[in-house]
Amino acid sequence: MPSEEPQILAEAILDTLREAILVLDAALRVKMANRSFCRTFRVKREETENKLIYELGDGQWNIPKLRILLEEVRFGKMKVEDFEVVRNFPGIGQRFMLLNARRIQRKTGQPRILLAIEDISERKAVERALQLHAKELERSNEDLQQFAYVASHDLQEPLRMITSFTQLLAKRYNGKFDADADEFIAYIADGADRMRGMIDDLLAYARLDSQKAEFAPTDCEAILADAVANLGRAIEENGATVTHDPLPTVMADSDQLSRLFQNLLSNAIKFRAADPPAVHVSARRNGNEWHFSVRDNGIGIDPEHFERIFLVFQRLHGKSEYSGTGIGLAICRKIVVGHGGRIWTESQAGMGSTFCFTMPA
Ligand code: ADP
Repeated sequence: MPSEEPQILAEAILDTLREAILVLDAALRVKMANRSFCRTFRVKREETENKLIYELGDGQWNIPKLRILLEEVRFGKMKVEDFEVVRNFPGIGQRFMLLNARRIQRKTGQPRILLAIEDISERKAVERALQLHAKELERSNEDLQQFAYVASHDLQEPLRMITSFTQLLAKRYNGKFDADADEFIAYIADGADRMRGMIDDLLAYARLDSQKAEFAPTDCEAILADAVANLGRAIEENGATVTHDPLPTVMADSDQLSRLFQNLLSNAIKFRAADPPAVHVSARRNGNEWHFSVRDNGIGIDPEHFERIFLVFQRLHGKSEYSGTGIGLAICRKIVVGHGGRIWTESQAGMGSTFCFTMPA
């Protein structure tokens, strides 16, 4: 290979790269500025030759952080990587740069320093836009939560008025109008009652955001026992049995975990088939999480509704078939997600349902 060939090859490679590159001598004078450097920072190659790097242009490269970097490669480390600097260049504007520098020892003569400059301004701009976007989303989410809370809270008062005056009307005027009027009053009372249920549930749903969860070791067997006790009446009326495997202690907010178990159990009993409800709760360790399941022998769920049932106010049945507001599972999901887990259902219509969720172990 002719002796000048490696030199030509090296220069060709440097000129082809997209990264801006400077080759400096031991005194930090520019021995070579590649094409990308000249183009990006708008300097002519002749203007760079043998110039001290800090004198390039109008001294824009006299950057304190760059000085530190170059001194380090000159006298200390062989290379320094991913050194971020930001600089305002006249006519070009603010540039974020990622610098890599390395000292090249030569067989003869002083060492050289290779400085590679990656312009990351665009990436930074995208990052900043994403951060702003995330902040904006967080803010609007908070607004929405606040709105749900205030709306449901403030709706309670006028509803109480409707309910109490309807009750008064029913008590005082029952039988004094015609039969239709009595029926209408009963409809108003029923509607107001359902609305109260929905508002209470919506408030409970919104409260999950505003009240901070308090995590502590929580014994799931004790929580399940409480839930069974609270559902005593429904269990008795339906002749239901609730069994369970050994359940673990997990880090959780005990109030929220109670609500989770209670909602899942009450659904398992409510959406029963002809046989008396038989509900089984189990848990098994799977790596760094607990996998819980609540299995019932009820009416089951068609897989096409698996996602929908976890949304607020989404129900698969009319109020005359099964009572409820359609918020129970949305609350369950919010609780599980707030604990760092996932929730889903496995079911076949007519074959019973299994609700599964995970909790970090
Ligand atoms: P609600 O119980 O008030 O209707 P949920 O959010 O708890 O509201 O449940 C949403 C819907 O999911 C229910 O209306 C029902 O159609 C379905 N579902 C929930 N749990 C079960 C279950 N164990 N078996 C069958 N269907 C269920």
